[in-house]
Amino acid sequence: MAGSGTLSAFRLPPLPTIREIIKLFRLQAAKQLSQNFLLDLRLTDKIVKKAGNLTDAYVYEVGPGPGGITRSILNANVAELLVVEKDSRFIPGLQMLSDAAPGKLRIVHGDVLTFKVERAFPESLKRQWEDEPPNVHIIGNLPFNVSTPLIIKWLENVSCRDGPFIYGRTQMMLTFQKEVAERLTANTGSKQRSRLSIMAQYLCNVQHIFTIPGQAFVPKPEVDVGVVHFTPLVQPRIEQPFKLVEKVVQNAFQFRRKYCYRGLGMLFPEVERVESTGKLLELADVDPTLRPTQLSVSHFKSLCDVYRKMCDEDPLLFAYNFREELKQNKSKNQEKEDDQEKHRL
Ligand code: SAM
Repeated sequence: MAGSGTLSAFRLPPLPTIREIIKLFRLQAAKQLSQNFLLDLRLTDKIVKKAGNLTDAYVYEVGPGPGGITRSILNANVAELLVVEKDSRFIPGLQMLSDAAPGKLRIVHGDVLTFKVERAFPESLKRQWEDEPPNVHIIGNLPFNVSTPLIIKWLENVSCRDGPFIYGRTQMMLTFQKEVAERLTANTGSKQRSRLSIMAQYLCNVQHIFTIPGQAFVPKPEVDVGVVHFTPLVQPRIEQPFKLVEKVVQNAFQFRRKYCYRGLGMLFPEVERVESTGKLLELADVDPTLRPTQLSVSHFKSLCDVYRKMCDEDPLLFAYNFREELKQNKSKNQEKEDDQEKHRL
């Protein structure tokens, strides 16, 4: 493991370019793994610079691939860089980087969705949640189909203060499809406002730092890419369990063009829907005719607090799922129709 407190700035020695590494190790992008590489080291330097001061930091890079961002992180004078890469073809190229930065780069051939970073760095890095963020950073340019489920998982980790957030308010710099980056950071009332906006913003300070045009990647993806920075908030803006917030938010956005009472109503069984939805909105002091996109995080805070009370009063409520009720009703109707058909015969 690398020691901290390096006095002189570290620079990687001259190395083959990323393009040469790709050729040398035959690292053609695998389409089925949605691999798009950044070859321009000025861009990878920009991502790393915007992640904050990484001097003596412990950095976890997800999906290093041919190692463009990896090089920029190593040049940022970090104490240690841990990379987790799923595709074994990249390991020899990363090993070459590790040889060029002795004791600084740790390579794991694994899956970021299951890797336990909470066991990877020294205990001494841990900070109290209320303190300044620890000198631990997550950086990554992952395929879009991995980055969205991963951020949801990590947001849940933020709310439980576990996983990568066992060290404190670990900061993250991640790339997303531009539309997803816009949803993550969308303000109340904007067209992009969605479930992701609320889930990210109630737990973190989220900033869309800059956009990378698709043509900067090899091969070029269909879309542009947004670079997003997350710092967990000392005090979450909604203080309820993640799953409860997720359920309220998911239901609210169920019918995004309709008034919010329509989607929120789906939190309740059909027999009590009108009455309970009215009670929820009245106690939360939320105008039923607002559209889901017009609801602020503090509206959601009130809705979650009231829904929590309603769940405490009715222990079966939280488990209620309107889709299951619909399915049951459908099969009951089908049985009825079958019976009527039999009697007619
Ligand atoms: N970071 C490199 C860059 O910017 O050029 C590569 C980016 S490419 C979009 C995504 C990388 O993540 C690929 O190397 C891919 O193999 C890796 N990857 C995809 N899914 C992964 C997973 N579940 N765990 C770890 N690595 C993954």
